[in-house]
Order: sequence, then structure tokens, then C-alpha cells
Amino acid sequence: MSTATELIHSIPVDPLTGSISVPIYQTSTFVQEAPGVNKGYDYARSGNPTRTALEDIIAKLEKGSTGIAFGSGLAAIDAVLKLLKSGDEIIAVDDIYGGAFRLFTQVYEKFGITITYADSTDAENIFNAITPATKLIWLETPTNPTLKISDIAAIAKITKAHACWLCVDNTFASPALQQPLTLGADIVVHSATKYLGGHSDLIAGLVVAKDPELGARIKFIQNASGAILSPFDSWLAIRGIETLHLRLKQHCINAQIVAEFLETHPQVDKVFYPGLKTHHNHEIAQQQSKGFGGIVSFTLKNDTQEAATAFVTSTEFFKLAESLGGIKSLLCHPAQMTHKSIPTERRRQGGVADSLIRLSVGLEEVEDLVADLEKAFRKIESIEIKENKFSNEIA
Ligand SMILES: *Cc1c(COP(=O)(O)O)cnc(C)c1O
Repeated sequence: MSTATELIHSIPVDPLTGSISVPIYQTSTFVQEAPGVNKGYDYARSGNPTRTALEDIIAKLEKGSTGIAFGSGLAAIDAVLKLLKSGDEIIAVDDIYGGAFRLFTQVYEKFGITITYADSTDAENIFNAITPATKLIWLETPTNPTLKISDIAAIAKITKAHACWLCVDNTFASPALQQPLTLGADIVVHSATKYLGGHSDLIAGLVVAKDPELGARIKFIQNASGAILSPFDSWLAIRGIETLHLRLKQHCINAQIVAEFLETHPQVDKVFYPGLKTHHNHEIAQQQSKGFGGIVSFTLKNDTQEAATAFVTSTEFFKLAESLGGIKSLLCHPAQMTHKSIPTERRRQGGVADSLIRLSVGLEEVEDLVADLEKAFRKIESIEIKENKFSNEIA
């Protein structure tokens, strides 16, 4: 079956009424015939048919056994971390999502879980970082916002040999482009707020486990900790997923054109996009995914927060906002926005320069998007190139 057909028909027709749209079961509880005798649902934190529909769809799309839906991407990540216990160690990709970094270091380190960071673009670095205490390898590929690519299959081989779990945050690629569980990962997490929802109208998170036993453990955590996704938001996520395949196709086309435009622009220093031949792991990206996604980052020759601020306030169609993956183009300045919670030095070491700008290339006509960027470049042309005002801090 082709991806589009599979995707559209992974959404079930309601067996009770024939409703082609999944019904929203806006209820807190379910009437029982006798204590413990019910139709598969007893209390809506433990299970809700609308949420179940979403959980089954994402499990199918990611080729896993179990899908589990949460109130946000971070709640999904949080549930996976609760598989660990004090003394366990996580090795995470160094260019990790800022919110995950904050959760790892400010919440979980307190409970005796150690987190080390490695440049996972070379699988060897993961191998070298593993200790007997390592229980979980945390990857994002592509990463946010420098679009680093890690070889999922190569790292999965390492985790198998060391009996630790491999979890991939698949938010940037989505299952339309990349299915980490088929490459050997054990767990996939999503901020469904982004491409899965696709319309910037939802906060949601999903976990998919490959193995049913591991899935059951995360489902237990979902019910025990309670950070579930509501029936209406589950429905919105399903509605988003219906067009995932089509949207991602166009996001990839538009982003490639934008990346190539930026690459030749005289005011641009570096462009980060896995679809460019100059990208460090372009070949691996090509092997493990069907497309390179809709996110493009770049730095300015004038590598200052001042120039970046002027740029991100000069576009018309690229709206200045956190988040990504919606039909409307967005842009952001990670150093002052999404990655603000990461200390300056660490942020720069991870490749997030002061002038780095992240684009979420939307579904507008791509000529309009390129013209919009061109206009912003002209606006910042007159800003004097200054010494980076933070550069002395590091030295
Ligand atoms: C946004 C994002 C998250 C967090 O998801 P929320 O839905 O905002 O909680 C996690 N990982 C990545 C890669 C993200 O982009």
C-alpha cells in the first residue's frame, strides 16, 4: 500500500454509526453493567475512544505496537523518562530541543538521573559515551535548529549491543518521511503540535513503542501520571494527520527551494538543510528518510543578535513565532526564543550561533516566500557588521 493510502485509511470509520469522521467522545466516565463489566472503557483518563483512535493511527504510521497520546510533546518526553530510575544515565544528542534540555537538567537530574551529551552525527561518539549505567539514548534527527542528521540504524546497533533503549524524537521528520522503529529504534516521540497537527492550532504529544511490553509500561505511566490528551485535541490531531503526507511533500519542495536560495545569498554565512549536498550527513538523510523536511536554518555574515532581530522583524509572510510545522510559514531566533533556556556557551557549542535564524517553511507559493526573505535581507543590509558583543564572554 502506498503511504498516502495507508495514511488516509489508517483512520477508522466509526463501527457504531458509520460516521466517516472519528466521533469526539466528550465524557469523563463510562457506565458499567456490573462492577468491572464494561465496553472496554471505564474512566476517561485511563482510556477514551477518540484518543484510542489517534493512538492506534500513530502506532500504525510509525510501525509500532502501541501509541500513547499526551497533552504536549514535553509530557510525552516526560513519560518516557519515567521509565528510568535514580542512578540511570541518558546520552542525548548535543543539539537537543531546548524544552527537553530543561526537563532533563532541571527536573530529572534532581532525581539522580545523569544526562551526558554527545555529537551523535558520528555514531562512534555514542559508542564511546556509553557506560554500564546508560539506559537510554535520546536522538533527534534532524535536530532543532541546526538540522544535524544522525544514523538511526547505526546507533540502534550500538544500543542493542548494550541493552539500552533508543528513543528518537521524530517531530521534525514525521512518519511521512521517516520511521525510526523500522530502523531499529525502540521508542518514537512526537510533538504532535508541529507537523502531525499541522495547522498551528494544537498542543499535543505522542509516544510509540515498538515492543508491546514496553508500550504497556508507558501506557501505565500515562494513566498513573495523568498527562493525557483531551478528546477534542485527539480529534484535531487525527484531522491533521489526514493530510500529513500531502503537506510534507510540499513542505519539502518549498524548503529545498528556500535553502538553495539562501545558499547563494551574499549576506548568508551558513545554511543548515539536510537536502543540500553540502550538508555533513546528506547521504545518511537520503538513506533513512523519504524527504528532508520543511525546516531550514541559516546564519548571517553579520553574526549578531542585532542583525538577526532586525531580520526576523522584517518579514511579512514568515511570522515571528515559536513552533513550526504549520501551513503558515514561521521564523524564529532560537538564541532569544526557543533556546533561551540553554546557557550561551552550551548553545554556541551546539552550533546555535547568535545570528542563527530558523525558518519553518510553510505551504504558501514558494516565490512569495523567497521574495519575502529577499526583502528582509535588503532591510538589514545597512546594519553595520559589528564584532560579536558576546565573543569575549567565552574566551
Ligand atoms: C516542540 C518540540 C517539542 C515539545 O513539544 P510541545 O508540544 O511543545 O510540548 C519536543 N521536541 C521537538 C523536536 C520539538 O520541536
